[in-house]
Amino acid sequence: MDKKIHHEWLNSRYGYFFTVRKKIHSCTTRFQKLDLVESDELGRTLILDGITQVAEKSEFQYHEPMVHPALCAHPDPRRVLVIGGGDGGCLRELMKYATVKPATVVEIDRLVKDTVAEHCPELAEGFSDPRAKVVFADGFTFFDTTKDLFDVIIVDSYDPGGPVQSLETIGFYKLVHAHLDKGGIAVVQTDSPTMKSEALRTTITNISSLFVGYKPYTCSIPSFPEGICSFLACFKDKGTPGHFDESRFSSIAPQCNYYNEDVHKGAFLLPQYLKKLMGS
Ligand code: SAM
Repeated sequence: MDKKIHHEWLNSRYGYFFTVRKKIHSCTTRFQKLDLVESDELGRTLILDGITQVAEKSEFQYHEPMVHPALCAHPDPRRVLVIGGGDGGCLRELMKYATVKPATVVEIDRLVKDTVAEHCPELAEGFSDPRAKVVFADGFTFFDTTKDLFDVIIVDSYDPGGPVQSLETIGFYKLVHAHLDKGGIAVVQTDSPTMKSEALRTTITNISSLFVGYKPYTCSIPSFPEGICSFLACFKDKGTPGHFDESRFSSIAPQCNYYNEDVHKGAFLLPQYLKKLMGS
């Protein structure tokens, strides 16, 4: 069979492509175009509105850094909220901690979760954990329905300009801040730092006006432009997400393929151009 090619333009001058062995599932949901393909290089790959989201062979390099720095920095992380992340990757990582209960995932698009649950068992394993709760709603309006406080809130959101722009507003980050308990940490994924520098700077402006501080960090991941993804660990009170709880990490270390104490420390050490761009 001739190889299909998935092309992805990152801006009008630059992009990337990969060969597709077969299309596993494709549909248009209420919110976005959803494709799940078998890529020769990346494995099973979820594509939303033409943008690569989760790739089987490298998603651990995103979901581990999305979750473990905050979970190993917080003094006693129990109640965790994920906004977005209906692919289950962050939830799978959270379920590695015996102390986390409940883990609530708020995903706007039920078909993302259903597609992953049917075709990507290694991503979907967290959904069957009795401590996990999945709510199908807009992350913004979800906060109107609850007074719950959380120890960690993970914004596993989407590319800027995604299906519903509610998560790109300062109003959303005010709600995140308000729903963090004392000592709480929010982690915001800020995509490829230079390719999405405008959205990154807007997010930094928004969170800087609300949180006492934040620490930017990065991970290496082949399915992102530049080969890196950036994150902001935002803290509600004095303290530092750079702290590392060795005993908590050792409880999950055997299940990690990317994260460890060196990676935790190294992730917060930025090259000069990123310090300037993401400075805290
Ligand atoms: N885990 C993915 C990865 O490995 O790159 C990133 C998650 S994907 C980029 C973003 C997810 O957030 C999608 O499942 C999308 O449907 C969901 N989403 C988008 N806007 C949302 C909103 N306003 N509220 C809740 N979920 C939303």
